[in-house]
Parts: sequence; structure tokens; C-alpha cells
Amino acid sequence: MKIDTNYIADMFLKLVQVPSPVGYYSELNPVLEDIAREFSLTVQYDNKKTAFMKLEGENTDKTVAVCAHCDTLGLMVRSIDGDGMLKIRKLGGGCLANMENESVTVRTRDGRTYTGMLICRSHSVHVFPDTHTLERNEDTVRIILDENVHSKEEVEALGIQNGDIVFVDPHCEYTKTGYLKSRFIDDKGCMASCFAAIKYLKDNNLKPKYNVLFVFPYYEEVGMGATYLLEEVEEFLAVDIGLIGPDCAGNEHSVSICAKDAVGPYDYEFTSKLAEYAKQEGCKYAIDTYFSYGSDANSSIKAGNNMRIANIGPAVYSTHGRERAHIDGLENTAKLLAAYLLKG
Ligand SMILES: [Zn+2]
Repeated sequence: MKIDTNYIADMFLKLVQVPSPVGYYSELNPVLEDIAREFSLTVQYDNKKTAFMKLEGENTDKTVAVCAHCDTLGLMVRSIDGDGMLKIRKLGGGCLANMENESVTVRTRDGRTYTGMLICRSHSVHVFPDTHTLERNEDTVRIILDENVHSKEEVEALGIQNGDIVFVDPHCEYTKTGYLKSRFIDDKGCMASCFAAIKYLKDNNLKPKYNVLFVFPYYEEVGMGATYLLEEVEEFLAVDIGLIGPDCAGNEHSVSICAKDAVGPYDYEFTSKLAEYAKQEGCKYAIDTYFSYGSDANSSIKAGNNMRIANIGPAVYSTHGRERAHIDGLENTAKLLAAYLLKG
């Protein structure tokens, strides 16, 4: 099976530039519609703007779902300080220490955008004795706008108000050696792998074994992803990042199959089936358990959907920070996904 790795990389580089922090779907959904059109697919939405794409199977009696979440970590304006700096709240479980000195964009509700930088209150080693030690949290971190503003009133005059959404720059690089260094590989790397698997089927005129509902939700990072599905689904495969660490067998070149996370175990037979398919396709893979992790799959069954769940994805370094993955891991994820679509 030959997966187009240039397509995966290009798709990731395209998706990661479109801001989509938790609950902000306005810019990415039109891009998904363009991608769907290239595959002669259409996009349907639920009321909270989860995007769905359906592929018809050889056997149309059964539907399986494959899910990669669109939402990324982000921030929201909490309040405006008297000196014109912005206090923030996190959207999702990002690591603020890791975001320090990153460029950000504040989007007002009337569509104006202003860039700025996320800084620690004790921002400079030459000035503050606690720069090295101060914990970076919602109380110690601020946004300094790239505008000549020094008071709350001047910031308000820009149209900025509490509850404005803040995009964090993805800070993306793709090295000649195949490493992706970027924020939001979680989960745009997995979205790219999903589209590469669809492309493989389309390029080779192959139909999936069963109907497939691709699901692209916007609330995974706050534990509410894929809670509603458009139709009856028997199996649900979350494609989400794998982890790298002392207890994990996965690495950046393999596809990780998650057997258990903080919520509970994934379906025994479904998980075993995926490991078998990985073996058959010659994919480098690893089965792992995750300590502090959840996915669209377990939020979806918690919401009452009656189905078996599993979870696969490329193993990624420094998750929820500026992450690193290798194109091999994304390729193996696409390959295992394509095998699952074809074999059922
Ligand atoms: Zn994720």
C-alpha cells in the first residue's frame, strides 16, 4: 500500500495555518468543504458545526465512524488590565509555559484581528528575580498587544472585549529529514492522515468495506467531542495523537494503538483487530496505555452512543506544547486507517 506522504505533509501545513481553537469552526469548515469537493464528497453538519463526510461502502448495512478532531488548544480574553495587557483563560489543557513568548492573534467578535505576544508577568531575567521560577498559569501570563496601547480604554477602543478568542501561532516547521515541529499536530496531523487514507481509496478506485462516517468535531479538547453522530454507528475509530514517554513503546516512526487511557479501556476485539491489520500491512506500530489522556471515542460513548471504540495515531513528542512528529508516523497512521476502511 503506497500512501502519498507529500500529500500528508502539504495537507498538514495547510490545515495547521487555519485557526480552530476549541469551538471556533468558522474558518476551518469552509476549508473542509473544499477538501471534500476534491474527493466528490459533501459535508454535512450537526447543530454545533461538527463536520461529517460520508463514504459509501461495498456493504451498506453497516456504518463505522472515523474521527479526527478539528479543535486545537487556544485562549480566550478574560479581562483587560489597567495597563492595556490582556489576562487570559485557556481553551483546553495547554501548557502555558510552553506557549511563552509565542505570537498570538486576538479576534474580536466583529472580525478585527490584532497580533500580540504571550508573556509572563515576570518576563525578563534582567528585571525580575523570579523569571526562572514563577509558575506560568492563568494569573501570571498576559498578552501584550502589538499596538500602541497603555490603558484599558485604549484596548477597548480597538474593539477588544472579554470573551474574544485568541489564536496561538502554530510555529510550524517541516525539516528535510521528515520531522514536523509545530503546535496542533494534535489533531491536524491526524486529520491529514485521514485525508491521505481517503485519497488512497479514491486514487485506486477502492470502496470501503462498510459505510464510513468521517467525523470532524470542535470540542475534543474540552471532553465533548463527537457526542452526537448523524446516524447509527457500530464502530468508532478515533484518530488522535499517540504518546511518547517512559512507559510507551510508540515512537515518532510508528502508529500507536491505544489500549487504555484515563477514561478506560478501548474495545478489546476492535483494538486487537487493528493490531492484526497493522501487522498484515507491515506498519510499524505499538500498543500503549495512556495515563492522562482522553479522546473523542470515549466522550462519544459517554454521551450514550452504542458502539465499540478504538484509538490510533502517530506518536508525538511534547504533546500540548510545540509538538514534534515524523512523517513516518503519519504515514503509518494513514496506512493502518486505509487497511481498516478496506477490511472493516
Ligand atoms: Zn487530540
